[in-house]
Amino acid sequence: MTELLLRGRTLSFNRWPETIDDHAAYAYEEDGALLIRDGRIVAAGTYTEVAKKVGEGVKTVDHRPHLILPGFIDTHVHFPQMQVIASYGAELLDWLNTYTFPEETKFRDAQHGRRIARLFLDEMVRHGTTSTVAYCSVHKASAEAFFEESHARDMLNIAGKVMMDRNAPDGVLDTPQSGYDDTRTVISEWHGKGRQHVAITPRFAITSSPEQMEMAGALVKEFPNLHMQTHLSENHAEIAYTCELYPEAKDYTDVYARYGLLGKRSLFGHSIHLSEREADALSDSGSVAVFCPTSNLFLGSGLFDYQRYRSREKPLRIAAATDVGGGTNYSMLRTMDEAYKVIALQGEKLNPFQSFWQITRGNAEALSLVDRIGTLEEGTEADIVVLDAGAIPAMRLRMETVATLAEELFLLQTLGDDRTVREVYVSGRPAKSDMVTAAA
Ligand SMILES: [Zn+2]
Repeated sequence: MTELLLRGRTLSFNRWPETIDDHAAYAYEEDGALLIRDGRIVAAGTYTEVAKKVGEGVKTVDHRPHLILPGFIDTHVHFPQMQVIASYGAELLDWLNTYTFPEETKFRDAQHGRRIARLFLDEMVRHGTTSTVAYCSVHKASAEAFFEESHARDMLNIAGKVMMDRNAPDGVLDTPQSGYDDTRTVISEWHGKGRQHVAITPRFAITSSPEQMEMAGALVKEFPNLHMQTHLSENHAEIAYTCELYPEAKDYTDVYARYGLLGKRSLFGHSIHLSEREADALSDSGSVAVFCPTSNLFLGSGLFDYQRYRSREKPLRIAAATDVGGGTNYSMLRTMDEAYKVIALQGEKLNPFQSFWQITRGNAEALSLVDRIGTLEEGTEADIVVLDAGAIPAMRLRMETVATLAEELFLLQTLGDDRTVREVYVSGRPAKSDMVTAAA
């Protein structure tokens, strides 16, 4: 039995914070503590309360005055795109054809996949992200490399071998049958092994033939507990081309609906330019719209209407994500800084409690995993981030005038990045300070 006691300023959300004064939405302890046993949080509260439950000789790590939060969750990211990030001058379809597809052909080589998977998860941990929902490449070996690395670190990650059988170079194409067979193999090898989750992953309607979409639908039927991830309504040229390829569908969302791909475990990256009918269809099915602000700004795709999606009569379930390599930063703090600006451009605000709810509990709820990750509640898995709002000189100076928790969180979001992440725990074990950093 391994036990660890963390002491610090603990913050965990109970529900969506309606306003900046909605203090019942979160639990905050100025001198808080978490007792971790065998990878789980077994006690949470004030230090005085928790310390009473601790056996003799338990190791204590005192993180005061830093903030202890649930580890961040990134709900849409492409691990094979670490060498695509920061590619200049294209909108979505050109960006895929010019940069992304050629890069992803390299993942035929299992050795390359293993190297990038290792560096990718290093980067995630360095930025305080303890769970991701990742696209691998079309190659089964890329998914196997990802899961091997994730399992070795005991991280809870969701990932899938991409299915794509047309409109891309041969080196990144499968067939309806091989896409189905390889996905099944990855599921049987990895789903439920330790903390690993496999997602059914048709890239998007443009790169999947109707035959492949049928196979994806068949997998969703066979494995109803698995997540399904794809892209939806990111860019106007993409939407027009999709509607040409699927003329029988009412609209882009209807393409996926026709193959049975909508549902409570379905994640639709971007979902920017939705009609009211499409938003209703997502809402009615419990599907999740994934907001990727840095990517949407970088590729000039459009502005995700977060507050309207939340407040419409049929609200959408929303997750937030980096979308690296279309996204421009691995940090969920940087992501929410850009999210704030995207929302501001539409005349709305996202208050800092709502931001931090979103990247912890909110994303866990969107993944239907809130009983396991995204909070500091007793019984959940001990994935934790420790943040220091004074880690950077400019932040330290600004902290001199910060008077409230809300102000501190907003400063962390506006100026923070990997430097503000002091420590990360994965399954209760220190993961950032223990990291062997070698870009080999
Ligand atoms: Zn994406």
